[in-house]
Amino acid sequence: MEKQYNCVGGDFVPSSAQEWVNNTNPATQEILSQIPRSRDVDVDRAVTAAKLAASGPWARFSSVERAKILEKIADGIETQSDRLARLESEDSGKPEALARTVDIPRAVANFRFFAGALRHDHTGCHTMDGAINYTLRKAAGVCALITPWNLPLYLLTWKTAPALAMGNTIVAKPSEMTPRTASALAEIVLEAGLPPGVFNLVHGLGPECGGPLTAHPDVDLVSFTGGTATGRLVAAAAAPQFKKLSLELGGKNATIVFGDCDLEATAAGAARAAFLNQGQVCLCGSRILVERSIYAEFREALVAAAERMRPGDPSHPDTQMGSLIGLDHRDKVERYVSLAKDEGGTILCGGTRPNFAAPFDQGAFYQPTLVDGLAIDSRTATEEVFGPLATLHPFDTEDEAIEMANSVRYGLAGSIWTRDLSRAHRVAEAMDSGMVWVNTWLLRDLRVPFGGMKDSGVGREGGFRSLEFFSEARNVCIKL
Ligand code: NAD
Repeated sequence: MEKQYNCVGGDFVPSSAQEWVNNTNPATQEILSQIPRSRDVDVDRAVTAAKLAASGPWARFSSVERAKILEKIADGIETQSDRLARLESEDSGKPEALARTVDIPRAVANFRFFAGALRHDHTGCHTMDGAINYTLRKAAGVCALITPWNLPLYLLTWKTAPALAMGNTIVAKPSEMTPRTASALAEIVLEAGLPPGVFNLVHGLGPECGGPLTAHPDVDLVSFTGGTATGRLVAAAAAPQFKKLSLELGGKNATIVFGDCDLEATAAGAARAAFLNQGQVCLCGSRILVERSIYAEFREALVAAAERMRPGDPSHPDTQMGSLIGLDHRDKVERYVSLAKDEGGTILCGGTRPNFAAPFDQGAFYQPTLVDGLAIDSRTATEEVFGPLATLHPFDTEDEAIEMANSVRYGLAGSIWTRDLSRAHRVAEAMDSGMVWVNTWLLRDLRVPFGGMKDSGVGREGGFRSLEFFSEARNVCIKL
């Protein structure tokens, strides 16, 4: 059986207790590999290695040298993109074509982008009468990077690249459900010339491995992406020690469709926003609010677009929808579909598992599912499902649409579909949301602030904000 190992101080090692956890392909239930079941002692070793490396050769790398290493890591990922796309697809169930065109290119782009950002970085200077202030930016120290299963390498590299750019050392804890691209990254960074101990990796279960990592006294910064309930635990562990903290959490995002939109393009865009990656993107638009004047016509176009997104063999190049992350997660989605029926909803499409021959008959597949007829404050329409289930709701006025969009405890993202740009501006300004797209969704510029408000998180990453977050500012005031 293939095994993944922790990476501690540049060595690939099992957990001290030599316990293992199976890594399963959710599309077939085949066991792909085993990961170490790391606990506090293993976390402590990795944090100690990271702390030691912070005062080693890495401390003497200039920013130009760090940018060069980031470029080399990007080259290393690019060279292995086919393999990495396959690993990502097998671990997560996502279509290999999606991993090949989105996840892995984005991992490359993350390193190239932060290499560039580092070269263009600058700090402030404040002159006074008789004195001058300037700002230094120092590495924050040992960074704990904790990531989820939906975009494994994409999100791990989104944190790793700026953390390395600012000269930090790292202990990464990827999701136990998608471990293999993180292990591949540990090899790639060493081959690129990163000194041993700068990037450490501990595999394991959330509470047993992620818990001790966030609470470890030698961890200076925690960057966490995952669910809101876990984020609360991470914040509680980090707060007493005043660690720097970034939380990118869940979402229940609105797609607001006005009567003057381009109907066909909007239906295709709303279906993509609802069901990309099987609806398992934190930014997915799972509450689709539609102006009543076009409700019936739009609903028909949206159902047709959703029905074109058929689940299938994730490795087939034409497959647009793969398997959900696991059978337990599909059970959760199915519970929400029955709840939707209990709450008075009508299933417009989906609501069932597809019928596949072996080996995919064992997989966690589910049809893209649309429901209408639900109250806007129903549980189905307000709780994060994180799967291929979206609800439709009619509205009459712009104000009503805004009120409906803002009526959830999340505030991550949203999209507005209209030909009236003044209205788009007004609605975007009124939405309680970290990010708003107009006539598009998930169009990403890596310079912009990324993150959410309310229960969707604390802080923003992206561009120079990431460089700021992964460093400590120090003001120096010189009396002239
Ligand atoms: P999760 O919260 O269950 O797990 C995320 C990571 O935290 C995993 O590595 C897990 O092992 C670890 N973890 C679990 N318990 C922990 C603990 N007590 N202490 C420390 N670490 C712990 O989330 P998930 O199911 O892997 O991912 C899905 C969630 O992530 C969804 O809610 C989704 O919206 C969210 N997400 C948010 C963003 C964003 O940018 N806002 C992006 C992707 C996913």
